[in-house]
Amino acid sequence: MGGGDGRVGRRLVLLGPPNSGKGTQAEVLARRLGVPAISTGAMLREAVAEGSGLGSRVDGIMKAGELVDDETMAEVVRERLARADARRGFILDGYPRTVGQAGTLERILDEAGQRLDAAVLISVPEEVLVDRALGRGRADDREEVLRERFRVFREKTEPLIGYYRERSLLREVEGDVPIRQVTERIVAALDAGGRSE
Ligand code: AMP
Repeated sequence: MGGGDGRVGRRLVLLGPPNSGKGTQAEVLARRLGVPAISTGAMLREAVAEGSGLGSRVDGIMKAGELVDDETMAEVVRERLARADARRGFILDGYPRTVGQAGTLERILDEAGQRLDAAVLISVPEEVLVDRALGRGRADDREEVLRERFRVFREKTEPLIGYYRERSLLREVEGDVPIRQVTERIVAALDAGGRSE
């Protein structure tokens, strides 16, 4: 990104199907932009590992590949975004996942006098992702659960593509290439988006 970094907004959402590389890209972009990567999935997995009240509420839902309810997620995200390190920006990975959550995010930011800079969609064909995931073997990645996660993505999360496109915030990149190339495509898409709108 070099000298171009200043143009790229620092409040970003990453969208994409399960296993599309959102988490990896969120980490890389966060380092380059100097803002935290915030993964709601990782936060929930931590809660489960700690055995907290939140963790025990969401454990079964996560194992089944379903979505935790919007209200619970609103609390999780509101608290996380209120922390000092997120004041200057963030890369959200895994939130929002429903149109309701997108509205909540907009309200949280609005209350803080902030707004989203872009929503980056990482597109990868489902079959490529299923193969990748089954080779990797995460606890909830048995094929049946994985298919369910894709179904949930198509039904609940895909509508966000239109939501952000209508708001001129959507930047789309093809993600079926090596990690480094995906990052470069994202950075290029963010730079281009900032100039043309
Ligand atoms: P992820 O690591 O982003 O794939 O998230 C793992 C699991 O955590 C998901 O399959 C959901 O069960 C739950 N989860 C994470 N983020 C959200 C969210 N924004 N809304 C609802 N459920 C979520």
